[in-house]
Amino acid sequence: MKSFQYFMPTKIFFGKNCILENKEVFQQFGKKAMIFTGKNSAKKNGSLDDVVQALREIGKEYIIFDEVEENPTIETVGRAAEIGREAGVDFNIGIGGGSPMDTAKAVGFLIPDKNLNTGDLFLLKPLLSIPLIEIPTTAGTGSETTPYAVVTLHSKKMKSSIKQHVFANVAFLDSKYIDKLPDSITANTAIDALTHLIEGYTCVRANFLSDKIAEAGFSAFSECIEGILSKNYTSEVREKLLITSSIAGFVISQTGTSIPHFFGYGMTYYKNVPHGRANALIMRQYLKLFENKDKINKFISILGFKSIDELCDFFDQVLDSPEKYTEDDLQCYTSMVMENKAKLAVYDGELSREDIYDIYKYSLLNK
Ligand code: NAP
Ligand code: FE
Repeated sequence: MKSFQYFMPTKIFFGKNCILENKEVFQQFGKKAMIFTGKNSAKKNGSLDDVVQALREIGKEYIIFDEVEENPTIETVGRAAEIGREAGVDFNIGIGGGSPMDTAKAVGFLIPDKNLNTGDLFLLKPLLSIPLIEIPTTAGTGSETTPYAVVTLHSKKMKSSIKQHVFANVAFLDSKYIDKLPDSITANTAIDALTHLIEGYTCVRANFLSDKIAEAGFSAFSECIEGILSKNYTSEVREKLLITSSIAGFVISQTGTSIPHFFGYGMTYYKNVPHGRANALIMRQYLKLFENKDKINKFISILGFKSIDELCDFFDQVLDSPEKYTEDDLQCYTSMVMENKAKLAVYDGELSREDIYDIYKYSLLNK
């Protein structure tokens, strides 16, 4: 068996009303919180009210930054850091999908030192973050159990993970916040979680333990497939998707993601393709390239499918693909991938420019 390390220090509270029932948890972190949310959803799904009530009941101060956009920009991170420093906050709470949770992570590194700027997030020298609490309201990114934060860099026309890594001290998983998640966001984010499991399971850094955890995730996801296909999102299905997403976070926190995530960023950047769907569009070609077919067959059978095509037909059934792609689009995405050769090392094999272009061609043209 090959050597590996495992590290995932986040304390998880799972269950209905877990924030208010465990409000004393906030006691151990700082005096003043900065709460990160998107523009609307956290105000409507009850998560922001629960956090504010918990903080008030234990006498903590807080400020709310509710300006996080989807695929958050590095400029938003910089602006939030200035506001947080000015207000003297000393712990962060991310509430939302991956966008607010990732923003809370990135800002946490900049708060302690006014001499730091957003460029420092991309340096290798490790920075220390203030404490972090994450509360997912989508079931997909697993950001609550990964150390990664993804931001949009308009100056480079791309999305990128920051180089600084931090795990949340605490994650609260309450599926009542995702009860009214619209069908299309539910499907896109569920597929993001599934692609984390698949990419973690197939990437070069997969190991015995990450594989066993991924297999538990595939098994949990298999119990949601019927609900996703029929859009019958019962509270049991919602709960299972939420925990699957965190399990998938355990996996990629050890292994990283692979080609579909990397290749999907171009489509998200230029055509606003939701993140989960962008990964799924690349998956068929990725899995066909993968040489260890026994491993592929194993996870496909845990999911309850018979073949790569049957799995990818499931993606097509549950995700719309309205965008049309041109030859120029494909060349542009291929160049984006070629510019980041280090990232290609997640794939166990050589990929030439022509191979990369072909993956895009077979994935995106005539869709
Ligand atoms: P998101 O960008 O956070 O949110 C997408 C949409 O869902 C927003 O319009 C949001 O509205 C809405 N929404 C969120 N929760 C909702 C709820 N409970 N009910 C109704 N609407 C709700 O989506 P995401 O897919 O979760 O996150 C995507 C981001 O995470 C991308 O930037 C991706 O690259 C990143 N990501 C990070 C990791 C990681 O390990 N850190 C892994 C994968 C992906 P509001 O704006 O009003 O909140
Ligand atoms: Fe993802």
